[in-house]
Amino acid sequence: MTVTKSGYAAIIGRPNVGKSTLMNAILGEKVSITSPKPQTTRWQILGVKIVDDTQIIFVDTPGINREQKRAMNRYLNKIASSVLKDADVIVFMIDAVSWRGEDDLVLEKLKHTDKPVILAINKIDLVKDKGELLPLIERLQEKYEFKHIVPISALDDDNLAALESAIVKFMPPGPMLFPEDQITDKSERFQVAEIIREKLIQNTEEELPYAVSVEIEEYKQTEELTEISAVIWVERQGQKIIIIGKKGARLKKVGIQARRDIEKVTGNKVFLRLWVKIKENWTDDDRALRSLGYE
Ligand code: GDP
Ligand code: MG
Repeated sequence: MTVTKSGYAAIIGRPNVGKSTLMNAILGEKVSITSPKPQTTRWQILGVKIVDDTQIIFVDTPGINREQKRAMNRYLNKIASSVLKDADVIVFMIDAVSWRGEDDLVLEKLKHTDKPVILAINKIDLVKDKGELLPLIERLQEKYEFKHIVPISALDDDNLAALESAIVKFMPPGPMLFPEDQITDKSERFQVAEIIREKLIQNTEEELPYAVSVEIEEYKQTEELTEISAVIWVERQGQKIIIIGKKGARLKKVGIQARRDIEKVTGNKVFLRLWVKIKENWTDDDRALRSLGYE
C-alpha cells in the first residue's frame, strides 16, 4: 500500500513505565535499551513503522525528572520539552499499577500543549482483576481530556495494534519521511554502544547509570567478523573497580552478554574489547557532556 500520511508520535512519561519496551515491541527489534532503572534512555531515539497507509515515526524520550541539579538532568528535561513541540500526537504512558508524583509532573507539561494526547496504560499484565482498570480509567478521564485511552502490555505485546490505530488517526497527510526499510535513525555503531551500556546498567547497582557512558573507538567490519573496541567512561576510581569486578568477572559477563546482542544487530560474528576509563564529574560538566556527543 502506498503511504499517504506520515508524522511523529512522541512517547512520553516518567522513567520506568515502559516507553522503550513499547518502542521495541512495536518495531520488533531492540532499538532502545531498557532496564528497571531510571535514566536508562539518555537519547532521543526514533523508530519508524508503516501501518497501513501511514508511516509513523515513534520518538522514545528520556524520562522527565524533578532533579535539576546535574547537567544530565537539565539535558533530559530540555529534550522532553522540545519533543512536545515537534510531535503530531503524544502518547502519554503510565503504568497500571501506580500513579506517582512524577506522573503529575508529566501531566503538567501536557497542559501547555494543544497536541492530541493518547493515554497508554501499560503493564496491564500485572493487574489480575481487569475490572480494576475501569475506575482507574474514569479517574484519569477527569484529570485530562485524552483523545483515547488504551490499556496495553508492552512486554506481552497485548493490545498494541489498538494503540497503533489510535495514533494513525492523528497523522497528517504527507509522504514517507524515512526509506521504507529503515527502522531507526541511529547507526549500528550507536546501537552497539547502547547495548554495552544496557548490560552495564543491568549488571550493577542503582548508582551507576548516571556515571556510565560508552564510546566506540574502533569498528572494523570484515566479511566474517566485526571487531569492536569500546571505552566505558566512569567518574571515579570506585566505579571503575565496581565495573571490572572481582578478577574482572563483571566486565567479562558484560562483554559476553553484550556480544550476544550485538551479533543480532550486525548479523555477524563479533570480537569485542572493553576498557574502563575515568573522566571526573562528567555528568556535571556541560563541556564534558558535549565532548561525548550529548548535544
Ligand atoms: P522506560 O524508562 O519508560 O523506557 O521503561 P523501560 O522500557 O526501560 O521499562 C522499565 C521496566 O519495566 C523494564 O524492566 C521492563 O521490562 C518493564 N516493563 C515494560 N513494559 C512492561 C509491561 O507491559 N509489563 C511488565 N510487567 N513490565 C514491563
Ligand atoms: Mg526508556
